Amino acid sequence: MAKTYLWCDSCKRSFAHADMRDGMCPICNEETRELGWMSAFVRGVMAQELVSSGLGTRHRTMIKLIWTANGMGERYYKALDPGVSYSKFESVVTDFVCQAAADGWVKVMMPPSPVGAAPDAYRLDIDDEERFVAEMSALFAADRHEAPASD
Ligand SMILES: [Zn+2]
Repeated sequence: MAKTYLWCDSCKRSFAHADMRDGMCPICNEETRELGWMSAFVRGVMAQELVSSGLGTRHRTMIKLIWTANGMGERYYKALDPGVSYSKFESVVTDFVCQAAADGWVKVMMPPSPVGAAPDAYRLDIDDEERFVAEMSALFAADRHEAPASD
């Protein structure tokens, strides 16, 4: 008999038969389905993908909330007059901040826990503010020379 695993749809993972509690998922107690090891493996990999892209999206959302906090998003928008809609501006600058954070010259500061954290514990720590503003402005240089955006 081929070796099989049991797949739980709500936990998005597979279990060995020995992990089961009366055929139910040992984590969430939902019903599980029997899968061959190959499909269990493929499903596990795909679920991992989903989890990691979900995390990336949430991390990006956190970064967006942090750089726009306390009206900073609107303030940069007014100062730069980027010639695009505010939501486009926010999305482009968020990607820029993510890249700057990956490159290490901007740090995204977060308290270790939200419990008791002061609002200013969430902030950007920018090594070179002039570079930050200059590069942010350059992101929209092309847009600004075109006709005013209508969106
Ligand atoms: Zn489960």
